Order: sequence, then C-alpha cells, then structure tokens
Amino acid sequence: MAVEKVNLMDLSIPAMKEFFVSLGEKPFRCEQLLRWIYQFGVTDFTQMSNLRKDLRAKLVEQCEVRAPEIVREQKSADGTIKWALRLDDDQVVETVLIPEEDRNTLCISTQVGCPVKCAFCRTGASGFNRNLKLSEIIGQVFCAATRVGFSHNEEHKPISNVVMMGMGEPLYNLKPVLDSVQILLSDFAFALSKRRVTISTAGVAPILEKIAGQVDVALALSLHAATDELRSKLVPLNDKYPLQEVLTAVRHYLQKSNANCGRVTIEYVLLQGVNDSLEDAHALCRLLSDLPCKINLIPFNEHECAAFKTPNGMRVERFFRILADKGFTVMRRTTRGADIAAACGQLAGQVKSLTVN
Ligand code: SAH
Ligand code: SF4
Repeated sequence: MAVEKVNLMDLSIPAMKEFFVSLGEKPFRCEQLLRWIYQFGVTDFTQMSNLRKDLRAKLVEQCEVRAPEIVREQKSADGTIKWALRLDDDQVVETVLIPEEDRNTLCISTQVGCPVKCAFCRTGASGFNRNLKLSEIIGQVFCAATRVGFSHNEEHKPISNVVMMGMGEPLYNLKPVLDSVQILLSDFAFALSKRRVTISTAGVAPILEKIAGQVDVALALSLHAATDELRSKLVPLNDKYPLQEVLTAVRHYLQKSNANCGRVTIEYVLLQGVNDSLEDAHALCRLLSDLPCKINLIPFNEHECAAFKTPNGMRVERFFRILADKGFTVMRRTTRGADIAAACGQLAGQVKSLTVN
C-alpha cells in the first residue's frame, strides 16, 4: 500500500524542524527548505543543491511540496488579478492581487465560505464548509508568487503586503492562520515586516484577547455600525460579542503590539440608508473618540446576494467629512477589481455549503 507523503507546506515552522530531527537531521534543514520553497519557488527536492544527495532521495520518497492548483485567472481593467484555487475536495477559494504604485497587496482567504454570515457579504451568503489547512493558506501566497515572482532574498518583494481579507473569518481558524503568519514573517521564507501583514476580523473578542501578545501583526476590525442594535443586524456575531467587549479586546491587542503603531484599522462598509447618515457618522465619532485608529470607509460593493445599495458620492463625502473634521484619520477605499468580482466582499469561490442559508 502506498504511504501518503508528508506535504511540507502543511508543517508549521516548529513542526518542520521536528520533522527533520525525526529524520536524524539538524533543525537548520528546515531553514534551507523554507528558502527553497518560499524564496526561490523550488518544490522539486532533486534541485535543492545544498542538501546531501541521500537526504534529497529520502525527501523525494517521503515528502512533497504541494499548494492548491490555480484553475482560473481573471485580470481586471485596473490591474487587479483574481485567482481561483482548487482544493483537494474540489472546492474553490479565491485570492486577489491588488497592484498599487508602491506595493503589491495579496488578499487571501482563510476558510471555505464563512460561518459569520454578515448581511452584506457575498462570502457569508455562500455558506460555510470548512477551515483551510496551512498549505491552503500559505499556498495562496505561494501560487501568487509563481505568477508575479519570488523574492530570492531581494529588498524589493514581488508580494509586499498580505491581508487576510478574503473569504472567511481568520480568528475562527486560528492555528493555521498563526502558522501561516509565522511563515510570512520568517526571514527564511517571505520575510515580510509585521506591519505588512494584516489580520481582519469581524470581532471574535475572546480569541482576540487570547492572541494579544502571542502574535504581532496589523489588525483590522470590521465594525460597520456604531450601535449594538444596528451592528447585530449587519454582523450577527455582535449578539455574542457586543461592541464594548470587542473594543476592549482590540485595546488589549494594541497594548501588546508594535506592528500597529498603536492604532487599529477600522473598516466600515457604507450601505445606503442603513449606516451612512449624519447621525451614524456622529455616533461613530463618539464610539471611537478614545480609540487610537484609522478608519477605512468602503462603499458597499453590490452583488446579487444582498439588496443593499452603494451610497452615492455625495453621501460618502459627507460621512467622510464629519469624521475628518473631528480629527480622525480616515480613508475612502477605492473599489478595485469590481469588473471581475474581486472587490471586498464579492469573493464566492465554490463552497459545498454545510449550512442552510
Ligand atoms: N471575515 C473578516 C475578513 C474578511 S471580510 C472580516 O469580516 O473582517 C474583509 C472585508 O470586506 C470586511 O471588512 C468586510 O466587512 C468587507 N466586505 C464584505 N462584504 C462587502 C461588500 N459587499 N462590499 C464591501 N465590503 C465588504
Ligand atoms: Fe465572514 Fe468577513 Fe464576510 Fe462577515 S464580512 S461574512 S466575517 S468574510
């Protein structure tokens, strides 16, 4: 009977070290492997010239390095690229590259679908199937690098920023998410600075409390409403973890972090007539008055699974002005990749949903 091979992409850095020790090797072999895979894009053990021949043969026999397969690539008129990646169980997740003048940001998924089911989100509407494995998360970055380039140790990194803002709630898939963060930050792998890796959450307060001090990357909180009443309608998780509990957890995370320069990014999807009024803007100012933050206003990206509307430019401007005049750092996120359904909240993939919609 054929023995299943160990996929090295599924091993966290500590697990990979242990694996090499179990083969009778020194732990630094792990560093060599990480370099080959994530800096050079080499997955064929026979080409790993700084490993002894017998070790290469052993790895060929026992291991593999396997990321999900890119099954579709779509390019937007604005340069955004969306890749659909097929997983072993034939489900599909999506990854988006957003090129900008000074950076290339990759937006990755952490779950197949999402169990949180925010009222306005296409991913939530597609249901939820399962968490992604480490190889399926870090494999998205690997796959993108096969198209735009690996770093080879150079200063200029073809993928300069990674945001966990694709499909899924990262804090509900904690171990693989933290293991992939470690690979993103490792000098032997993607070597990204912790300010260039962002975890975005709908606000799973106890998990945020738990990871405070345990991981240090940029944090984004998807807020979308300034009162519990409205937020519970938009983000059902708010019933479990209401605003004050979430904001307290965010403060604790910030206290133990260097990556955020003391400030959390607040994401606020603007939905016409729902959360974009003058009163909503003032309520937001009051709620955030003593939270060090920058606010990202995201005009709703329309899709067929939700009846919300994008506010017109004047309403967005009015909301923006109120916050800016109160002294908040506020940005309007320009929609990228909408023509290929790659914009925030439009990712759907192919989810074999286990939940009833
Ligand atoms: N689950 C995490 C990360 C993925 S969602 C979270 O919610 O933070 C990434 C961002 O896209 C969130 O801020 C989310 O609110 C936003 N988003 C979801 N649907 C959207 C839509 N239709 N239009 C604009 N932004 C949307
Ligand atoms: Fe899940 Fe985030 Fe979409 Fe909400 S916005 S359903 S948490 S992916």
